[in-house]
Amino acid sequence: MDSSLRVHVEDVRGEGRAAVLDRIAGYGVAGVTVAAAGERSRDITPHGPARVTLRADGVHFTPPADLFAGLRLTPPVQAGAAEEPLAALRADTARRGLRLHGWAVFLRNATLGLAAPDVTVRSCFGDRGAPADLCPSHPDVRSYAAALGRAVARQGVDSVVAEALHFGAFGGPCGFGGSGRGHGPGRGHVPLGPMDAFLFGLCFCDFCMRRATDLGVNAEAAREECARIVGGVLGGDPPAQGEVTRAALTAYAGPEAVAYARARSEAVTSLVSEVSAAVAAEGSRLVFLDGTGAVKGHDDGLPAPGLAAHDAWQLGVDLVALGDLVPSLGAFGYARDAVRVADDVGAYRRSAGEERELRVVLRPGPPDTDSADRLAAKVRAARAAGADAVDFHAYGLVPYPILDRVTAALAG
Ligand SMILES: [Zn+2]
Repeated sequence: MDSSLRVHVEDVRGEGRAAVLDRIAGYGVAGVTVAAAGERSRDITPHGPARVTLRADGVHFTPPADLFAGLRLTPPVQAGAAEEPLAALRADTARRGLRLHGWAVFLRNATLGLAAPDVTVRSCFGDRGAPADLCPSHPDVRSYAAALGRAVARQGVDSVVAEALHFGAFGGPCGFGGSGRGHGPGRGHVPLGPMDAFLFGLCFCDFCMRRATDLGVNAEAAREECARIVGGVLGGDPPAQGEVTRAALTAYAGPEAVAYARARSEAVTSLVSEVSAAVAAEGSRLVFLDGTGAVKGHDDGLPAPGLAAHDAWQLGVDLVALGDLVPSLGAFGYARDAVRVADDVGAYRRSAGEERELRVVLRPGPPDTDSADRLAAKVRAARAAGADAVDFHAYGLVPYPILDRVTAALAG
């Protein structure tokens, strides 16, 4: 079974490339997935020289001028990028017989969104309140994504792992009041139900509305209905009960809002197709990573009952369409229960078809995994359910004794 450990450039730099790669090779993984285009965060790094590491949005390489010339959006460049840490990693992983995958966060970038608010999502009320969420329908964002995919591929990686190449979840992966990604802690003292939050998170920018209209959806009616419902809750109406499903949402918000939400997958599918072609043109391959499992299980490893593959449409992800387009799909198995991981993987496998590579990201420690046996059980479950590869998250975030679990999990 193929495998990798996810790593951040800051942690490789802090601990020393040779030491980190020696340790990673010792775990028995087949490769390293390095954050080539990372995102802003504040991480406890238990074995790094800095015990809290501040990360920024941007790329760890010099953006090729030919790819971004004439584009309005260009990637922020990380400190130390001029030293070309990815080129050094590529050489050193190759020497050790490890594959190198380039992980890139595409459309979650508060640095870009704060500098150009018009490319971020716009709510049914007209607010641009999610600076980290770039809209996949915006032409400038689409040009940026294609160039970024090509630029990461050009670093000589075996694959480009595309994270957040779809619509975001309301309030980010941790919800409102969680990390408040990119804009400090979020505060929300209105009791929104899951369906209210979903409607509040839909983008009604001009480009999204035009795309939906072209697909025969009454976009203005959908916007008005969202504003009426969410506005009611903001005014004191009781929030919606229950998880987001198409049937429940139809009953709550009407068919136009559901049709609008579902039409969003066209923008994502066509964008992923463009990025995949750009990556292939540089001799690499795209792994499309669906963030749904991370949204569902991020905080506690206890996702609500709906399987991630079945809820992917809520981020504009059409797995059946993408299964025909991209060489590889990735999913987050952020769950405590090995049976749940198997159920999620099986649903992705059925959606994507038998031909595609299917990779699963697992967390070897809290909140998902409390023992080496449990990690081994999840790897076995993922493999039995149809996964081709597991990617462990992440080197710098996890104490050494927890990383040690990877060895036995891959051997078992
Ligand atoms: Zn939009």
